[in-house]
Amino acid sequence: MIITYYTHFFELTICAIIFLEVNIVNDVAMICKICNLSCDLKVEKNINTLVVTGNKCGRGYDYAKSQFENGETLLTARCILLNGSMGRLPVISTKPFPAYLIDQAISIIRETQVSAPVEKGAIIIENLLHTGINIISQRRVV
Ligand code: SF4
Repeated sequence: MIITYYTHFFELTICAIIFLEVNIVNDVAMICKICNLSCDLKVEKNINTLVVTGNKCGRGYDYAKSQFENGETLLTARCILLNGSMGRLPVISTKPFPAYLIDQAISIIRETQVSAPVEKGAIIIENLLHTGINIISQRRVV
């Protein structure tokens, strides 16, 4: 006599929703200077983690990490370059920029137009957002 037991297996899916409290204390844009691709990095510094986006390789993460560990949070971005050999000019703030103004500052910089020739260190935007911080050219463009 053959007794066949049919066993039905039910797949149970347990969905766990985990709420993570994320406290962003820094949100900084910077350009990776490790290689010529000059990736635009966005860095979010939470309590325990550093989230880097925009990097095309792991060296970009290491670069952003080193910038934070060194306490350097200079704002870097690109403005529009007219009559130059490239379409955008990399610029940098003369001092670390307040995190809560970063997004606003980047929007302004990206819409700012400057015409070549431009000297390295030339002031592109003076007293950005009334911070007393200037934005200067990172390159000389003839
Ligand atoms: S993230 Fe990588 S690919 Fe991009 S600029 Fe940095 S080193 Fe170069």
